[in-house]
Amino acid sequence: MARKQATAPKKPAPEAAAPTEPETTAAVEEAPVKAKTAAKKPAAKKPAAKKPAAEKKTPSSRKKAAPKTAPVTETAPTVEEAPVVEEAPVVETAPVVETVPVVEEAPVVEAAPVVEEAPVAEETPVVEEAPVAEESPVVEEAPVAEEAPVEEAPAPSGPVILTHLPRRSVAFIGSECHPFVKTGGLGDVMYALPRELVRLNCDVRVILPRYACIPKEYQDKMVYRGEFYMDLGKTGRNFYVGIMEYICDGVVYDFIDNQEFFTLGRPYVNLVDDIPKYCFFAKAALAALNWMNWIPDVIHCHDWQAALVPVYLRTLFQNTPVARAKTVLTIHNLRFQGIYNIPTIQYWTGLPDYVFHMGALKQKYEDANMFKGGLAYADRITTVSPTYAWEIQTAEYGETLDAHLRYHSGKLRGIVNGIDYDMWNPATDPALAHNYDLGNVLDHKMENKLALQQELGLEQDTGKFVIGLISRLTNQKGLDLVNAIVPQILDGNTQVVVLGTGDKQYEDAFRYYENTNKGTFCACIQYDEARAHRIYAGADALLVPSRFEPCGLTQLNAMHYGTLPIVRETGGLKDTVQPYNEFNGDGNGFTFDRYDAGLLLDAINRAKTLYFNNRYHWDEIVQRDMDKDVSWANSARQYKDLYMELTPW
Ligand code: ADP
Repeated sequence: MARKQATAPKKPAPEAAAPTEPETTAAVEEAPVKAKTAAKKPAAKKPAAKKPAAEKKTPSSRKKAAPKTAPVTETAPTVEEAPVVEEAPVVETAPVVETVPVVEEAPVVEAAPVVEEAPVAEETPVVEEAPVAEESPVVEEAPVAEEAPVEEAPAPSGPVILTHLPRRSVAFIGSECHPFVKTGGLGDVMYALPRELVRLNCDVRVILPRYACIPKEYQDKMVYRGEFYMDLGKTGRNFYVGIMEYICDGVVYDFIDNQEFFTLGRPYVNLVDDIPKYCFFAKAALAALNWMNWIPDVIHCHDWQAALVPVYLRTLFQNTPVARAKTVLTIHNLRFQGIYNIPTIQYWTGLPDYVFHMGALKQKYEDANMFKGGLAYADRITTVSPTYAWEIQTAEYGETLDAHLRYHSGKLRGIVNGIDYDMWNPATDPALAHNYDLGNVLDHKMENKLALQQELGLEQDTGKFVIGLISRLTNQKGLDLVNAIVPQILDGNTQVVVLGTGDKQYEDAFRYYENTNKGTFCACIQYDEARAHRIYAGADALLVPSRFEPCGLTQLNAMHYGTLPIVRETGGLKDTVQPYNEFNGDGNGFTFDRYDAGLLLDAINRAKTLYFNNRYHWDEIVQRDMDKDVSWANSARQYKDLYMELTPW
């Protein structure tokens, strides 16, 4: 049953969920606010039309003004206009109304005259799906904008926004994002895709938990944006929701603060803790959008931790402003689904009974599957490669959701990930011993190899074939295949470097190989971003023999650093690595198909044969891989097209 509450929320909840006084309420209330809304009728439903010309921000102007308001969409009820009082002073210069969750230049916050145009959902006739609002879930606090969020100065090269493209607003909701918190590829995507979408003229807000483990450097840059209280499921309590904001390169990051849920040293702990945490987070993220009065065109959710967002949106939030948004749910890894017994999920979410059926959240007899529910309610489902989109509809890769995904296949598509060229650039990468580009890769890669060998205590010899493996050490990553053939790989001319943490059995196996092969095998059982960069630069080849791989980023990083991938033909590995063809010289790397250690060894041996017998051709592939476009540009355009498809106005 439900987990007991461990600690009290940061602030005591006000007794009555008192809809605060009209003078101070921004009335950007979320969730079922039925009772509250009856009293006041929103005067303007289309605030965009009223927008004062002077206030209209072009995307470029948005970049210039330092501490600016959150990016504003033209169509969404923007922060400026919505709660503006009839006789509101001009926002640019005048003190900002307290109720407006705007962080304009003037940080003054004084009570404003009555807010009339509260964009609260009017009392609507009960929609079939809309559950009866249990009680007002949120207790509004005065949304005080204390100080302007720190906006990082855009890089000198800055994001160049393609203003001729149609403009859309998107809220990303997910559980991790580089550089704040990252455990794998999801963190990379949450960082890189929003930045690329900004270039494509999207206003992007990324909503994340404010984990205590976020480095102090970033905690210090966050600015308090406001707070409110929100009810949660059947807990009978109102939970504190703080919003901390940070703006960088045109992307607004809003961190949901609640010390009860986010104090641990790492984002994922165990299901007992994680289920309530993400039930809270998904609801708080939607409530925060309403509270900020920033209603995006599209809400883009990521993995099971945010999968309840589409479910909440079409149930508890159905009659609130945010319900006008369309939803996209991206599967980064179907293995993790957020499954727990139905009573517990009901307790933490308060979702109506009708979502707990086999077509939505229910699974087997008594379980609720958060990912499954999200897939049912999302307007579009994406996954991170076309091959994985196909694979997950089969029993072998579907993780028991294959039938569900086949049912929803009409709204499912695969868009392959890219990598961020600012973060992954061998020409400027500060972690490398020697920077290089396409023109001088052949010389400088050798220097990086020597530096890597020295750093890791391997025999320094440019003639050795160095194989890297950078991975979470879990059963997904094909490590049992690697373990089975390490003795055959180490033939006297080959060195192996493993960087990763994870399951003890793999950590121990790699430590064993290091102990028995000093100087030729190195096991770095750690998570070390800078070392990962140096391995990409210093190795000749990178192993990615995954059992399944939704997209995989390591093979992309490797190619971009002139390191040839050796991969199993599955998921995104199949889509991004074209096998080397010894007859016509085409290809980017070496591949094998069945999950079999012998086939992996065969692929490694083919790579070695080319490396030692035909270096000229090897080097040609190195250059071709570095030249291959693995950036986000193309993939981000596909996401933008998807958003446009959903919002074709
Ligand atoms: P997954 O998301 O399944 O872990 P991906 O290939 O999509 O795998 O993404 C892995 C990302 O994490 C890559 O950017 C990779 O460089 C990085 N990474 C994985 N393990 C480590 C590690 N031990 N140290 C540093 N970076 C790592």
